[in-house]
Amino acid sequence: MQIAQRVTQLQESITLKLNTTANRLQASGQEIFNLTAGQLPIFPPGEFRQALANGTEELKSFQYAPVAGVAALRKKVMQNLERARGISFNQTEQEFDCLISNGGKQIIFNALTCLINPGDKVLLLAPYWISYPEMVRLLGGQCVVVQSDFAGGLLPAVAAIKAALTKHHPKVLIVNSPSNPAGRMYPDTWMKELASVLADFPDLAIISDEIYFDLNYGGQWPSYFYQKNLKLLPQTIICSGISKNLASTGLRIGHCVAAKELITAMAKLQGQITSGANSLVQYALLEYDFSKNEEYLRPILTRLKTNLKYLQNALETANLAACCYEADSAFYYMINFAATPAFAAFAKAPDDDVAEKMCNELLNKTGVVLVPGSSFGLPNSARMALVLDPPLFAQATDRLIKFLNV
Ligand code: PMP
Repeated sequence: MQIAQRVTQLQESITLKLNTTANRLQASGQEIFNLTAGQLPIFPPGEFRQALANGTEELKSFQYAPVAGVAALRKKVMQNLERARGISFNQTEQEFDCLISNGGKQIIFNALTCLINPGDKVLLLAPYWISYPEMVRLLGGQCVVVQSDFAGGLLPAVAAIKAALTKHHPKVLIVNSPSNPAGRMYPDTWMKELASVLADFPDLAIISDEIYFDLNYGGQWPSYFYQKNLKLLPQTIICSGISKNLASTGLRIGHCVAAKELITAMAKLQGQITSGANSLVQYALLEYDFSKNEEYLRPILTRLKTNLKYLQNALETANLAACCYEADSAFYYMINFAATPAFAAFAKAPDDDVAEKMCNELLNKTGVVLVPGSSFGLPNSARMALVLDPPLFAQATDRLIKFLNV
């Protein structure tokens, strides 16, 4: 059987490959510290689990949900967004609507499918989430990337974004704050600057991927460009879901709020591909009181902060302060391989990307599993998840630092 080119051209997930090796090593008795996780290792809130259990007594929980999502839940998502972002969807002339999908991933793919034609450009800010470029390629689009570096705290320069918008005329810009994999939110001043640049690009669609909104442990809530200039709201697609804030990656619910025309197109597409998202989970979400979530997330945020502090202290003590940058959200941190003594043994030339080689060696020698930064558009680095229990995380960190400091 011949597999279609659009799929053969897709990148294979490096994380999956590394996890296979990790499982093999674990089965052979090696101690493994898996720091690739993109999920919280905790149960969702008790009230939400109870609502799910209650829902199993209702016939509607097992029947097709409306394609665009349960109407009352769509309304609730919009109201929650208005409250949490301090905006009102009635403040502009544009009519807005909400779509519920099978996860944040489907929301983003669905939006991109409805927005880009083959050859259209999409502007990404590196380091970016692994799936954005693959989705764009699958749709025949082209990625334009604005880079960032460790010295600049992994914040892409707004001037470089402006230059790329002016030069390449992308149809879509994706902004992901707080970001996976950098583990930080773009600062308020950055968002202000971005808002003033975006005001000159009224035809640009902006996907604001806010799936980590609730996971910030730096004491500040994320802010967004559309809050700085409400005129940008009609061209923005605010995307989120329950995978991260309700520790429910397996329940597959994502949502977005955007201009009504776009939501109608996305719902049409969804109706032919997957139909409405999981009914049981949608009705349970309708019952769940989201104001309880801050309290639910508090212990895990404390854990993330503790682990980050341990890591940063350990890096500094080991004279690896060049690896440190300011992080405050999501549950990841990028390790700057290029700034470590171990790097020289792997790189033949300064611009070789040896992240995958180093991650493989790290796994084989120490049992620590990280995701190579190459897949996030940041060569010679790796993503480390901060979610492990602090004592185990400390052990993994010590092994990593010993490996990097040879
Ligand atoms: N956006 C980002 C930045 C993510 O990290 C993820 C999940 N890793 C998603 C979107 C999609 O999440 P899900 O499909 O689980 O809702």
